[in-house]
Formats: sequence, structure tokens, C-alpha cells
Amino acid sequence: MNKKLIQNGLLIFPQGSKKADLLIDGEKISQIGENLPTENAQIIDAAGKLVFPGFIDAHTHFDLAVANCVTADDFASGTAAAVVGGTTAIVDYCTQYRGETMRHALQNWKQKASVGCSCDYGFHMAITDWTPEIHAECHDIMDEGVTTFKLYLTYDTQVDDETLFKILQRLKEVGGIAGVHCENSGMIAALQQEYAADERISKVSSHYLTRPPASEAEAIGRLLHFAEVIDTPVIDVHLTGEEGLNEIRAARRRGQTVYVETCPQYLCMDDSLYELPGFEGAKYIIAPPLRKPRDNQVLWEALAAGEIQTVATDHCSFTLAQKELGKSDFRKIPGGMPGAETCGRLIFSEGVCKGRLTKEKMCEVLCENPAKLYGMYPQKGVLAQGSDADIVILDPGCKEVIAASRQMSRCGYSPFEGKELTGTIDQVYLRGELVAQNGKLIQKNRGRFLRRGRFAL
Ligand SMILES: [Zn+2]
Repeated sequence: MNKKLIQNGLLIFPQGSKKADLLIDGEKISQIGENLPTENAQIIDAAGKLVFPGFIDAHTHFDLAVANCVTADDFASGTAAAVVGGTTAIVDYCTQYRGETMRHALQNWKQKASVGCSCDYGFHMAITDWTPEIHAECHDIMDEGVTTFKLYLTYDTQVDDETLFKILQRLKEVGGIAGVHCENSGMIAALQQEYAADERISKVSSHYLTRPPASEAEAIGRLLHFAEVIDTPVIDVHLTGEEGLNEIRAARRRGQTVYVETCPQYLCMDDSLYELPGFEGAKYIIAPPLRKPRDNQVLWEALAAGEIQTVATDHCSFTLAQKELGKSDFRKIPGGMPGAETCGRLIFSEGVCKGRLTKEKMCEVLCENPAKLYGMYPQKGVLAQGSDADIVILDPGCKEVIAASRQMSRCGYSPFEGKELTGTIDQVYLRGELVAQNGKLIQKNRGRFLRRGRFAL
């Protein structure tokens, strides 16, 4: 007998919210309704609180080696950070490096995760080269529960146009879908050479100036034209602003299905941070870079209007000491920032509380849509009978100031340090067990590997 009854809370559904009780039996939600019987159940009073399904962060990079260093967060600290922030499932990027099989890559990433995960986790497969063996493996890896793929159009993991086309064709055949990092690598390389040739080499601002919005928009446009010819849906991950969005709008006008993800940093911060004195701006070095305040506004509106389907973090954390590797050459600053811990609270505070999104829309972009797009629905992403009892109890009346000193991430700083947020994460349940409370991890290592199905959004 392991029943818990959450009473008096406002349950959030994309279709509308309702006051009801929610009964957990073991790992599952067993009943939702009014005045459910209380016998044999532990009572949890959620009066005045919002009850969300656990958030899903389908874009993390834990224990990833890049630019001569390894991310500050591994699967232990990364999933701990995620779960105290209300995220009960993450999907991390497993990389098939050149010459490796996908099976080997998956083993590597399962090994990384074996340190212990505090939320459930799955993997996307990043493909970096294309051989007959990889072509054949696409089918088998789907059966392993790795049903979504990642392609980079820049970095040393990039695929060229011909490879991009062939991979998209093959994924269509096996029922997979690709999320693509869209930036034009040639344009960026040429601009970087120019900036590195003079004193601009040691300026943080050279990072964003060499990755203009057009470099992203060009790559999105190219991807979507490829997808048009192949007649396949694709995902544009971490969309940063209006210029890229216009390419997506154009593809949709042609009748294409395009799924779009953005991240809290592209909604809440802008490129003026790269102009901060000294090396301060390095904290915000990510790719694609932050854009203009106008882009923040366009993205909020696009989220509210349903033009963007999901929000994820692209959590890829480096300490300030690691960032210093690029002190004399902006190209060597490791790119990435933490985000897993604050995502849900930021979307609530900056989105819902500021009237940019409804709480129902928040539930859609952080829970239901990612669950469907990444093959976890209805096990995850929804408060429903039979679904995993992954539950977040959010106190909308409480305020909290973001401080790196209190976070679970090993990154050592927060890009949102000192920002006051409305709404706190009171309790987080992972498959029926209380795992986090008031920013503290109560139970660790309960996370399990998620064998995901095909995308269905
Ligand atoms: Zn990423």
C-alpha cells in the first residue's frame, strides 16, 4: 500500500485547469476527481498551489567533452539540478563520433549515466558520419528506445549537405526524426578568421558578431528546403529569434510540418550581455548566441501563438575557470551555460506571471508537447490516470532570488544570478516518490532509462 492523495490543488492541463484531487498509487496516477477517498493514503495538501505534470527537458548535455574540457555537470549533478527545478525527465544528446557505431555510442552514454540519475533520462543520437553500417543501424537503434536524432550543421561534429540529405531520407524510412543545430559553418569560419586577425581576438563580443542571425536563418532555410524535397518533418532546436522564425513560417506556408524548440535564455536575455566589461560576457557564450530584445519578444509571442512547440534548456555548463581557456582567443571559450535548474521557474515567472503565456500553455510547451514529440506520451507529460506519477507542486505566491550558491549544478555561477522569480517549486514527485522539496534533493538516483517510442505530435 503506497498511496498518496494530493488535495485541493489546481491541476494544470493544456486544455484547461481544474481543481481536483489526484491519487497516486505506487508509481502511477490512479485517479483524478473530486472528493476522492482518503483512507490508506498519505494526504498532501496543495491548497493555493498549482499541480503540473513533471517538466521535460529534451535538450541537455551532461558529461560532454568539448573544446578540451568536459562539462561541469555530469549525469549526477545535472539530473539533480533538473529535478529540484521540477524536471522529471531529460533527454540528453548521445554522440556517435566518427568511426564509431551507434550501439557503441549508446553504451558510452549509458555508462556516463550509470553514475546515478535523479530524474528519468533518455538519449537522442547525434550522428556525425554516414556509412553503410550506420545506415543499417538506424533501424536497430530505434528498437533500443532511441527514436530521435541530432545533426549539427556546424562544429567538428557537422554533417555536410549531401550527408544531411541522406540521413533525413533514412530517418523518414525508419520513422525517426532529427533535431538540427542550424548555423552556417562556412560563414562563421570566415568571419572568425577576420576577427581573430586583429585585437578583436580577445574580445568576448567577437563571439556573437561572428555568428549573425543570418548564419542561423540560412541554415534553417537550407534544412527546411531539404525536408521539403524529402517530405519529412524536422525539428529546429534552440531557435533564437525572428530571422530564423521567418524561415520556419515560409516552410509552413509551403505546407511543411516543422517542430520548433526554444530555450529560456533566448526568451529572457539579449546580446548586450556580450558587451559587459572584461571577461564577464563569457558566462553567456552559447551557440547560437543571444539576440536582441526584439527577438525575445518575438519568441514569447510565437510560443503563445503555438508557432514554437517546446521549451528546453540546452544545459551545457562550464565553470568560469573553464571559460578562461578562451581569455585570449574568443574561439576557445567553451560554449554553453547551465539552465536545467531554473527553466520551469523562469517560464512561470517571466512567462505566466508577466502575462506572456497562460499556465496551460506552459504545461503544453514544457510537458505535453515534448512528451509527444519525443515519444513518451502518455507515460509522461500529462496528469492522467495510468500515467507516471511525475508531479510538480508549484507555489505561485512565493518569491525567490536565484543564487548560484544554492544550486545543485557544479557550474559555480548562474546566468540569472540575483534575479527575483515569482513562484517556487515546493515538491517534486518522480514516479510516485517525493524526490525534491524546496530546492533540496530528498532522494537521489531514482532515475531510469526511458525507452522511447516514435514521435507523435
Ligand atoms: Zn545543445
